[in-house]
Amino acid sequence: MNIIKCPSCHRSRMRKLNGQRVVCKPCSKSKRCVFQFCCACQREWPRQAVSTDSCVLPNCALRAALLSAKQIDDPQSSVRGCPFFRACPGCKALLTHNGDGCSNIVCPHCFKEFCFRCMGPECYDDDYYDSDFDDSDFDDNDLVMMKPCVIKNNSEIIQQLGL
Ligand SMILES: [Zn+2]
Ligand SMILES: [Zn+2]
Ligand SMILES: [Zn+2]
Ligand SMILES: [Zn+2]
Repeated sequence: MNIIKCPSCHRSRMRKLNGQRVVCKPCSKSKRCVFQFCCACQREWPRQAVSTDSCVLPNCALRAALLSAKQIDDPQSSVRGCPFFRACPGCKALLTHNGDGCSNIVCPHCFKEFCFRCMGPECYDDDYYDSDFDDSDFDDNDLVMMKPCVIKNNSEIIQQLGL
């Protein structure tokens, strides 16, 4: 279960109202008006929202999935430590990695190829996982140089894609 954190002041221990609506007391105090946010997509609750169950903001479910703490923890996987969900940098579809093979995947919707770890379009870390690859000549420093692939977190991706 995710801990509910206020997107504005980042405090936890919030009081949940109906559905996904949460009130942040410290923010309400400092803003001098009730500050409510959606605990799924981490955005301010729209004042014009009719429903109290869902914020009805665009991409609520998509953002909620991307912001979830769920990670790939299979030690054998090339995408270990990655968020379970990713948004395709091409079409913004919600994608997952099946855990097998290299970290590069092809989006089934727009056929864009990208690396599930660093979200870059061209990532050459395949050799590292190739069983024929002879790594006896390399020490760890070489591997770091060959593998500039760093796991990007989804909050960066959300900003990049404007979700
Ligand atoms: Zn707050
Ligand atoms: Zn929402
Ligand atoms: Zn796509
Ligand atoms: Zn990569």
